[in-house]
Amino acid sequence: MSFKVGIVGLPNVGKSTLFKALTKKQVLIANYPFATIDPNVGIAEVPDERLNQLAQVSQSEKIIPTTIEFYDIAGLVRGAYKGEGLGNQFLSHIRDVDAIAHVVRAFVDDNIIHVHGSPDPKNDAEVIGIELCMADLKTVERRFNEVEGKAKSGDKNAAALRDILGKVKDALGRGTWAGEVEATDEEQVLLRELNLLTLKPMMYVINDDENFSHRDTLPALEPHVLVSAKIESELSELPDAEAREMMQSLGIKQSGLEKLIVASYQLLDLITFFTSGPKETRAWTVRKGAKAPEAAGVIHSDFEKTFIRAEIIHWKDFVECKGEAGVKEKGLLRVEGKDYEMRDGDVCHFRVGV
Ligand code: GDP
Repeated sequence: MSFKVGIVGLPNVGKSTLFKALTKKQVLIANYPFATIDPNVGIAEVPDERLNQLAQVSQSEKIIPTTIEFYDIAGLVRGAYKGEGLGNQFLSHIRDVDAIAHVVRAFVDDNIIHVHGSPDPKNDAEVIGIELCMADLKTVERRFNEVEGKAKSGDKNAAALRDILGKVKDALGRGTWAGEVEATDEEQVLLRELNLLTLKPMMYVINDDENFSHRDTLPALEPHVLVSAKIESELSELPDAEAREMMQSLGIKQSGLEKLIVASYQLLDLITFFTSGPKETRAWTVRKGAKAPEAAGVIHSDFEKTFIRAEIIHWKDFVECKGEAGVKEKGLLRVEGKDYEMRDGDVCHFRVGV
């Protein structure tokens, strides 16, 4: 299982440049059997300092970080919802992602045409925002018309769906995102089936010049990460040691890609758990709120059904007690059952039946 982030934005804002930099850092496919080789998908490893510390304790041969997938979704232009540009094809790709990274342009370069005149991150953001709203409005209107008849003839479920669709339809018409409409838990479940774009978590990626000259004058686009696609593109061409040197000389601690990957991971509301032994130390991902059997199922799909119990150690205890034996001595290993809700930083051993 891998979570997907779609990179969207107007033409010429730096999407492909960023995406290419990401794919240069592409993970070793052999470590990730689910990985498909698709030019529009870049699989990025999520940097996590805890992995090194755990691997040191376990003397692991290999370290395998968890990943997220980035999708380069080209073709979003003004009027996409009416079929302009790649239109509907674009919209169907974006429906498949779990979250959206929306690139807007702050860098100024007269040689690179901005589709609407001069770079204006706020305006870029609005243009795309309206496209997403209009696309959702079409979806919601279609569904609204389908259920209205049934609702009128007394079908209670249809009436409930019609009511929430009506609210969302009005909001979208005003340019308000579906995610901002107040909805009960039941209504949220109904809405989820429509897979609306404006219900997906989204963040902005502001592409500035190499000096980050617009850092202090950026519009309030939240959440956002500030990157320079140009720097990232240069860094991605260099061997690791030289890239680190370049970062040092630029005075940056974390590359823009790292910032983007970490922010995407946070946006997706995920937690990381670990397995650690002499063969490998590995990070795995589940959604926040996942129970132990679901986490076991991430490691091997059979494990969800055959789950018996989980032995859990907090990663810090694992490091401080120098491994499982030390943890056990101190009585810090917990045995948890199928109702246990996974926590970020759990080091796990799942016991399963056959
Ligand atoms: P896309 O259409 O959004 O995918 O944009 P591209 O990544 O293809 O970039 C469009 C043009 O802008 C290319 O010529 C890039 O080299 C250039 N470009 C991208 N990022 C930057 C940047 O940060 N600074 C400058 N000066 N040019 C950039």
